[in-house]
Amino acid sequence: MNLIECWIEHPVLQLDKTYSYVTENDSIVPGVRVLINFNHREIIGFVESVTKYNSLEEINEEKGFECKPILSVLDEESYLTPELINLAKWMAYDTVSPTISCFKTMLPSKVKPTSSNHKIKMEKWVHANDFEASLTPKQAEVYEYVCTKGELKYTDLRVKYGVHAKNCIDKGVLEVIEKEVSAIFDDEIVTSERLNLSECQEKAMKQIQETDKSVILLHGLTGSGKTEVYLQLAEEVVEKGKQVLFLVPEISLTPQMVSRVKSRFGSHVAIYHSGLNPQEKYEQFKLVKEGVVNVVVGTRSSVFMPFYDLGLIILDEEHDHSYKQDNTPQYHCRDIAIHRASTFGCKVILGSATPSLESYARAIRNVYELVEMNQRINETLPTIHCVNLKNTIKKGESYILSNTLVEKIEERLKRHEQVILLLNRRGYSTTLRCNRCQEVIMCPHCELAMSYHASDKTLKCHTCGEVIRNIHECPTCKSKAGFSTFGFGTQRLEEELQQRFKESRILRMDADTTSKKNSHERLLQMFEDGKADILVGTQMIAKGLDYPRVTLVGVLNADAGLNRSDYRSVESTFDLIVQASGRSGRSELAGEVVLQVFDEEHYAIQTALRQDYVSFFNCEMKFRHAGGYPPYNYMISILVQDMNQDKAKKIVKEIHNELKGDFKILGPSTLLRIKDTYRYRILIKGKDLEKMKDCVRSVVREKCAIGGCPTIKVDVNPMILD
Ligand code: ADP
Ligand code: ZN
Ligand code: ZN
Repeated sequence: MNLIECWIEHPVLQLDKTYSYVTENDSIVPGVRVLINFNHREIIGFVESVTKYNSLEEINEEKGFECKPILSVLDEESYLTPELINLAKWMAYDTVSPTISCFKTMLPSKVKPTSSNHKIKMEKWVHANDFEASLTPKQAEVYEYVCTKGELKYTDLRVKYGVHAKNCIDKGVLEVIEKEVSAIFDDEIVTSERLNLSECQEKAMKQIQETDKSVILLHGLTGSGKTEVYLQLAEEVVEKGKQVLFLVPEISLTPQMVSRVKSRFGSHVAIYHSGLNPQEKYEQFKLVKEGVVNVVVGTRSSVFMPFYDLGLIILDEEHDHSYKQDNTPQYHCRDIAIHRASTFGCKVILGSATPSLESYARAIRNVYELVEMNQRINETLPTIHCVNLKNTIKKGESYILSNTLVEKIEERLKRHEQVILLLNRRGYSTTLRCNRCQEVIMCPHCELAMSYHASDKTLKCHTCGEVIRNIHECPTCKSKAGFSTFGFGTQRLEEELQQRFKESRILRMDADTTSKKNSHERLLQMFEDGKADILVGTQMIAKGLDYPRVTLVGVLNADAGLNRSDYRSVESTFDLIVQASGRSGRSELAGEVVLQVFDEEHYAIQTALRQDYVSFFNCEMKFRHAGGYPPYNYMISILVQDMNQDKAKKIVKEIHNELKGDFKILGPSTLLRIKDTYRYRILIKGKDLEKMKDCVRSVVREKCAIGGCPTIKVDVNPMILD
């Protein structure tokens, strides 16, 4: 008889401890999911440990109560290695979240190695036969192509050669075979050779290899060639037979990074991100666990892949906010990466042109090894111009596109070069304002303005998805006096561009044009292939894109984020400008950048103009110091939310009264209502993070053990507070 200790998720209570069950099944191992009976409900448990006993009596005697048998086993095998099980427990402690939520985060419930999921998908592949037949020139070309490839997917061949592919099969020179669908052999892989490192890259590489520190901050200008350094370090590790984890903020926005890694490591690469379907996720997990692949490129969640011999973790664009999960457990991928690396005794490289202040502060305090790359591969930085909209609007220029920007766009169009125009998403969408009462139309469920889409005359809430069509009457004053549009979004910008540059081909990339699967990749590919002259978009186009023909980048409202209430808004604004500017002039063609701003004198703008991270860091640190913000203090946010306002208010007050310790308590403050949910937040600030966590843990745990408690979200080191 086996004693099973498991973590359970109760639908009402959040009980953070294991429960004891028994089973005669000897095949159960830690990490598998089991079905159990808890208070007359069937719920799922994650097995923490299995201990063999001689009899049930012996177990009951030791426990002092009668252990119930488990109902069934849900998984045949566990994808959580012992290392991951320990990681889950550490993460629960570190992020002050229930352990079960950590298990669930690590192993998406869809990755179920249950027998029902073993439906193996097949697909058609072709290979060449040794066969003498007379072929048309086109057929000969197809045959030749397949011979050089060895084997490839039939659909790919059909796409490339159309009916000629089929004719070759009919003639018998090519043969179709059925193969199991496998995510890794999906693409035709273009191979690439390692580049000869520049002096600057060489130096960085050497410093990384020689340091005895385990965390390295690689601070390199945009276009300084960080990727090549990553790749060569990874190669070394792979040659030793170890595994490499390559973390990127978003797969769909970094297609070039993915293809560079693939081209270097061929089919030994797994790609892992939230957009994969369950079958694909399951396969990738399996490939890593079984050691078929030794390089994983993935987003945040791939930090939980079942590695067995990790030799290096690379976390590119380490400042990016998408590394932080905004649901419980609110972990930061960087923390997990550093923790896992220490378990495996390997190095972590945090790379960025604009490191987070926390990381840079640690690096200059010598906690991390600081490696700087101050030279672009092409040795020239783009020239950055600043247009003060206050002056240009007074002169009667358009508030969307200044004359300077228009002239520069014209030049590029003439020279057949490409332009990227970025609209800072924050606060920039078209809203409707009532002509009588002047109120902006708000979402009925969220305290947020709805954005107006002129093309189909609809109002949309980008937070909850509410849509209002054909509005005639003001919801506030009931007048039918009509509305005026206010502000502009990407759609409006696109229209304005099309009017001014009638012949130009414009691509727009924003939440509306990228809602379909693979649409990011498709749009970026079109731009890369030169099928458009101007790429217009929000934040999403500022990330690691590398297009040699882009010689002009315009940031239309570069300082729009500066007056947000969030203490990080200045940092995010600086990051965005520097990252966006870094897309210009990355190759032989010289690059220019135009920043349109209202607040030209702001230090974030001034330092971004000079691409001077260190000066920005020093200025911003002074403000953080004065306000007692991170990295000078730690913060924990406790958010209480419920559809019932009184309930949420009551609990937040109780928590407020019970929190006691050597820290400052701010709030509770009332946040915007979102999706009909009332939200209140308490923020604590202090120097001793562990003590702060202990206090929050004990207060919150007590509240959660009472049935019907509002949702309480604890966020240690919160990134965004607006
Ligand atoms: P970063 O990630 O630092 O912004 P990238 O790694 O994208 O920079 O490199 C910028 C460009 O320089 C890329 O087009 C890359 O192919 C090229 N590059 C990088 N290293 C070398 C090298 N050693 N020799 C030639 N070209 C290089
Ligand atoms: Zn009105
Ligand atoms: Zn809404």
